[in-house]
Amino acid sequence: MTPNTRIDVHMHYMGDTDISRSLLESLDLKMMNICVAEDADGKWRDQADVYRNLAHCYPDRFAWCTSFDLPKFEDADYIKRVIEGLERDFRDGAIACKIWKNVGMGLRNPSGDHVLVDDPILEPIVRFIEAQGKTLLMHIADPLDGWLPLDPSSVHYGYYSKNLEWHLYGRTDMPTHRQLMDARDNVIARHPNLRVVGAHLGSLEHDVNEVARRFDKYPNFAVDVSARLYDLATQDVSLVREFFNNYQDRILFGIDCGTWELASAKSPEQMANTMKYITKEYSDYSAYLESEGAVTLRDRELPALNLPADILDKVYRDNAKRWYPGIVS
Ligand SMILES: [Zn+2]
Repeated sequence: MTPNTRIDVHMHYMGDTDISRSLLESLDLKMMNICVAEDADGKWRDQADVYRNLAHCYPDRFAWCTSFDLPKFEDADYIKRVIEGLERDFRDGAIACKIWKNVGMGLRNPSGDHVLVDDPILEPIVRFIEAQGKTLLMHIADPLDGWLPLDPSSVHYGYYSKNLEWHLYGRTDMPTHRQLMDARDNVIARHPNLRVVGAHLGSLEHDVNEVARRFDKYPNFAVDVSARLYDLATQDVSLVREFFNNYQDRILFGIDCGTWELASAKSPEQMANTMKYITKEYSDYSAYLESEGAVTLRDRELPALNLPADILDKVYRDNAKRWYPGIVS
């Protein structure tokens, strides 16, 4: 690492080849790879194997964040198994644990009710992470747009117009965005000694003031900006600048690019495209955070933040070290 290395705290990058790792060198980058547990049967462990190995072999470039199987209500050993898995992963260098939005937006208990993230079944797991001094990464809701009528001018229209199953407007059988946020906030409030990072601006990407309200209430809460550049850039620029200024110790850098398959399994052309895409993402983020004047995103000219160097240092590096202890080896 150099004094200018940027630390990306939200990636899914299976860089198991020299070429894929050369990208990190050329961008002067370190990243935390994050496991996403989509199932209750441990299939996501394939991700963990890759990310753990990368962190072992190239600690100056990779850190990793584990996860755990979705609850099995009928399995009396569920909690025991999860804790054992976390214990092993933390021993194997995992610096954090992720809970994904399938808790809240998919998982149901045996009586058919949605299980939200503040459900008692998850409590011993959260307590364990807290006791171990590790960070809990929470991504437990889609953007609010998903609950609103489809609107071609909204930031996430492209996604929802193509993924109608996730567009929940009018769906009374699903929790509201507010319920998911309340459940998440309950967990943060219950565990004041647990560091919680909310992915994607804490799922409050539609309004930095909503994030700010949580920051004021919960000193143990921070957010990453991953995959939400456009949400930020389309809000009032002076408001966003003030947000970065007021909460400069609580905002973490990340882009959230997923390769989801080993670099070694990709053709040279596929890998070149991936690297081109990722490079462009980093340059868009930097242009927005650092430039004076305007930046072009999705063919729109939008005002850039022009953050001062001391705030950029925190967002790019120092906050990652504080909120994810151990991220720098
Ligand atoms: Zn992600």
